[in-house]
Amino acid sequence: MTVLQNEGEAGARQSAGGWLRIDLDALKQNYTLLRHQVGHDVAVGAAVKADAYGLGVRHVAPALYRAGCRRFFVATIDEGLGLRPLLPDDAAICILNGPPAGTETLLAASGLTPVLNSLDQTRRWAVLCRKTGSRPACILQLDSGMSRFGLSSEDLDSFCADGLHDVLDITFVMSHLACADDAASPRNDGQRQRFNALRQKLPTLPASLAASSGIFLGTSFHHDLVRPGYALYGGNPTPHRANPMHQVVTLLGGLVQDRWIEPDTAVGYSARFIATQKTRIATLSVGYADGFHRRAGGLTSAVLPARPEISLPVVGRISMDCMALDITALGDMDLPSGTGFELIGPHRPLDDLASALDTIGYELLTSLGKRFHREYIESSP
Ligand SMILES: *Cc1c(COP(=O)(O)O)cnc(C)c1O
Repeated sequence: MTVLQNEGEAGARQSAGGWLRIDLDALKQNYTLLRHQVGHDVAVGAAVKADAYGLGVRHVAPALYRAGCRRFFVATIDEGLGLRPLLPDDAAICILNGPPAGTETLLAASGLTPVLNSLDQTRRWAVLCRKTGSRPACILQLDSGMSRFGLSSEDLDSFCADGLHDVLDITFVMSHLACADDAASPRNDGQRQRFNALRQKLPTLPASLAASSGIFLGTSFHHDLVRPGYALYGGNPTPHRANPMHQVVTLLGGLVQDRWIEPDTAVGYSARFIATQKTRIATLSVGYADGFHRRAGGLTSAVLPARPEISLPVVGRISMDCMALDITALGDMDLPSGTGFELIGPHRPLDDLASALDTIGYELLTSLGKRFHREYIESSP
């Protein structure tokens, strides 16, 4: 494996407190895995909003393009404007949160594809089409039961009565599943049926419903395009079952110092951890300012990558810039300062950390801070 896009010199690795390793080979393997999962009649786009879920869109999106992805989803126009110069012209960039009033000309001029989420947005896009005599591509979203974005059944009737589908060039009709991470939820099938029923009101158009978890609900959810995000980044799209995806993210916290403490000695703010025996405490240079949640103290553990079988509990309160590990189980093992402890990675899965913290891996990834030394690994671009 070669590191082709290293954002700093070797020294920069040590001058940062923690290191984030992002495996672009695994990312591309995940893209290919999802492609096989849906078969070749179905296109696979990629959700790269929120800086590719915190992993760095300027590395992630071009890597996905090299893996064959030609449709990218971001939330806002600003995200789209940032992404446009990073991708060739044949890559479509779609704005999930739709066009705020007055942004239509900017969108069309910038080669961005709006997701039209309301009747008002469809009308404004139609005005642009009529005014310019052109038909820039758009996506039409229907509300199939999430009450977040998209035209209601009544909106769709007005849309059709106004003949707007003749004015617009709609490349996809889409909707979004609220409960896809719960494969047993009857709401999945309910939304699918509602989506398909709403689509009957329109001329036949390509359709898109599934994101990461929806892909694993079966072929009836695939339609013509799927829009995974989290699964590409190694998150488990099938909670409660083994993760079919490849591990993309590894987070290592660097050792700053370590000490043996006596029984009854306190560790960290508010003395939330008191040693009950002679205990070896390691201080790592990663804290809540790096997105490692303050409440993680006492709820999770780290490992030394060379000794993954030994679990090392995170003890006491997480500080802004550091945390404490109980490394008594390592005995007197020699640990040079700067030794990396795995906080997220092959031995400490993202989804396990998320459930220990009563959140989801999406939130952990998008909270990862700016101070890490980032390494992007790619053997064959
Ligand atoms: C974020 C998002 C996706 C991707 O969802 P994942 O669960 O990360 O795969 C797809 N579609 C829409 C509309 C989204 O907002």
